[in-house]
This record gives sequence, C-alpha cells and structure tokens, in this order.
Amino acid sequence: MNGQQNVIRIDSDICTGCGRCKDVCPVGAVEGVQGTPHSIREDVCVLCGQCVQQCSAFASFYEQHPACIAEKKRERGLFVSEAAPLFAAWHTGDAPRVASRLAEGCHSMVQCAPAVRAAIGEEFGMPAGALTPGRLAAALRRLGFDRVYDTNFAADLTIMEEGSELLQRMEGAGPLPMFTSCCPAWVRYAEQQFPDLLEHLSSCKSPQQMAGAVFKSYGAQLDGVDPRQVFSVAVMPCTCKKAEAQRPGMEHDGVRDVDAVLTTGELAAMLRQAHIDFAALPDEPFDRPLGSYSGAGNIFGLTGGVMEAALRTAYELVTGEPVPCTELVYVRGGEGIRHATLTMDGRTFRVAVVAGLQHVRPLLEAVRAGTCDVNFVEVMCCPQGCISGGGQPKVLLPFQRDEVYAARKAALYRHDAELACRKSHENPQVQALYREFLGEPLGHVSHSLLHTVYGQTR
Ligand code: SF4
Ligand code: SF4
Repeated sequence: MNGQQNVIRIDSDICTGCGRCKDVCPVGAVEGVQGTPHSIREDVCVLCGQCVQQCSAFASFYEQHPACIAEKKRERGLFVSEAAPLFAAWHTGDAPRVASRLAEGCHSMVQCAPAVRAAIGEEFGMPAGALTPGRLAAALRRLGFDRVYDTNFAADLTIMEEGSELLQRMEGAGPLPMFTSCCPAWVRYAEQQFPDLLEHLSSCKSPQQMAGAVFKSYGAQLDGVDPRQVFSVAVMPCTCKKAEAQRPGMEHDGVRDVDAVLTTGELAAMLRQAHIDFAALPDEPFDRPLGSYSGAGNIFGLTGGVMEAALRTAYELVTGEPVPCTELVYVRGGEGIRHATLTMDGRTFRVAVVAGLQHVRPLLEAVRAGTCDVNFVEVMCCPQGCISGGGQPKVLLPFQRDEVYAARKAALYRHDAELACRKSHENPQVQALYREFLGEPLGHVSHSLLHTVYGQTR
C-alpha cells in the first residue's frame, strides 16, 4: 500500500527480542515473544522509524566475519566502508546510489529539512542542540550538489496553500476539522485506520514534495534545464519520507518530485565517506531563490510548529493586522495532545496539536461521531515532532533522550527568533514565486503541482 514497503525491517540474525521496539511503536506493529527475534506487521507499520531509533542490539563490525557484515551493508544500502555498528532494526539506505549519481555529473538539486540542521552536528562530536545551517549548506555543496536549496522554503509555501485551504473550508468549501498532511506516517495511519475521514486531510503535498515539484518546474526553468534532467534529493530526519517520495500522485507530467531521500544519518555517512570534516566547514548560505526561508518555515521541525506558522499567517490574513506576538507559546510544548482557542476578527477558532500517533485516535473517533468542535489539527507521528524522527542520529541512552530532544527543540526556536523574516507570507522569494510562476494560492498551477489526493494505492 502507498508506495515502498520494507523501508523498515528487523534483522532476525541480530535481534535479541528485548522488546524496546515494541514498547515504542505508536501503532502496535511489532510482534514477537520476549527473548526471540521480533518482526513487523507491514499492514500496520507506518514506517516512522521509532523502532530503529530505540534498537540497541547490534552486531559489532569486529565480532563477525567481515564478508557477512559487508553483505548485510549492501542489503541495507550502506557504504561497505562505513564502520558504524549494524543494529537489529534498520531502514533502507540510499547514500551509495546518491553518491554515484552525483559522480555521474547530473544536474542535482538538494533540499534539507529543518530538523536536520539541529542534529547532524551530533554525528561529528558537536553537542546536542548545535545549530548548523551554514555548515550544512557548505557540506552539501562540497558533496557536489549544483543547487543547495531548503525544505523550509517549501514549508513557507505549504502555509500559503494550506492556510488558504483552511480559510476556504471555514467558509463552507470542505469538511472541518482540517488535518495537516505534512507527516507521511500520519497520512499512512489515516489511510490504514480511518479511510472514511480522508476528506478531512488537507490536499497539500508535504513540504518535501512541494519542494521537489518546484525544483522540477520553476527551478528547472531558472536553470534552463529539462525537468527530466534534474536529480532531486531530500535530506530528512524521517524514514517514512522515503516511502512518501514513491507514492502515487507525487509527480507531475510523469516526472517524480523527489528522486532520492537521505536521512540525517545517511548524509553524515556520505560526508564521512567523502572525508569532509563537517565541524571544520565554514558557514555558507543556501542558494536563492528556493533556499530562502522564514522563521515560521524553520519551526516545522517541532511539534506545534506547523500550527504556529499557520496561525502567524492566518491571523494577519483574517484580521489585516500584525499578530500581536510572534511567539504563540500556547501551541508549544511536548504533551501528546494540546488544545487552544483564539479569536480572530470576532470569530472563535479552535485548534489541536497531536504529537505521537498513539494520542490521535480519540480525536478521530470524536470526528467520526460528529462531536469534535475543533477547526484545525496538526498531527505529527514522532514524540516531539521531526526533531525526534526515525532518521535522526540515535540517542541510545534512554535517560539522555529528553535532554537531547529539548536541546534540538531549543535550537530550532532560537533559529526562528534570530531570523529577520518570521512569517511565511512575508518570505520575499515565496511572494516572487507566486508573482512569477504560480499565480495565486490554490490557483490552477498550484493545484496541479502542489496538491494531491490521499488514499491512492498502488
Ligand atoms: S517503523 Fe514505526 S510503526 Fe513501523 S514498526 Fe517501527 S515504530 Fe512501529
Ligand atoms: S513526525 Fe516528522 S520525522 Fe516523524 S514520521 Fe512525521 S514527518 Fe517523519
């Protein structure tokens, strides 16, 4: 269903049956008896990679026969020279394929999700919460990408499209509450468990897919290349993003939006393989125009971030006045579900933020029963949003996890606060994209490039 299966697997040669993966799985997809190798039910798994994050059973490179280890690395899509241990729960890798496409000299464009810049430094000995957007841009350029763009640009674009869709629905053009569609694991869950509620999902593609669609249209036009020649790569904190890129509908005129997805950990492996010393790199800017972003786009990496970004813009569009305080602290926090009510132009607006799929079912059942009075809901599968995603650097010691997540979170809020532009609709390059190419939010071009239909299966 919905694209690539088997993104996440458990290696029965290595699994000790400790059950950590089972404890952390938000949808009960892991099966197995304590002390025997566990397995994953593919019809239930949403590919979030939380089991990969928590798994601490590993095969040491030095303990087993090197030929066996090399074979396992090839099967997993890893560089054979990578010396990191092989854990029992793993996700498929794309780094060797991306490295060889870059070596062929294709026209490449890369995007980088917000949570990556708050965590990749950990792979190179930097403290948790080290914020490295400039080094990241430099690193991607050293790897040979022709255009070093940013998913944050597309996060701002998502606010323009999703915010307009919400306002249309509030005027009667669609069912409420409207749910965000940025997290593919959440979308997968809704498709599997609540197919009758899919019309409540925003039709927006996620920022990853919007960025890819813009790369292969506007970006290709700017560079004077055929969209079919563009190799579009996404660097993500997320394992489910690999499957999302392969979904039906994530293409335009037969050209896929995103050709390859690397996790934060895979990008770090590519840098090690290329002998690039990340910590020693200078700060460099992302390329313009598609690498320019607001603080609102940057907080998409956190639970509550999409909601906060949307409310900053919605308030100004609805009232015609500046939002009194840019920091909307009432949607921040780490609880599994948060509610807030605000008044805009005399209208009461109710929102909910869900972090962790295990918390979403009661709300969905209330929608089914017709007893939910919320207008807009953000759902993120991972416990603190994408900063705690399945493709992020592993935090093996449980007692350190909260501390590390808090540091990554603080880094993204810090980055938002230090940017001159903090609202998506004020991003000058997004404004230029609408002026020069898209026309208007929800217009014809936007619709064909940036929206999709959920519930499609292969
Ligand atoms: S990937 Fe996520 S949903 Fe699938 S088994 Fe692992 S924790 Fe559960
Ligand atoms: S919360 Fe973020 S990292 Fe986790 S599954 Fe959703 S999009 Fe991926």
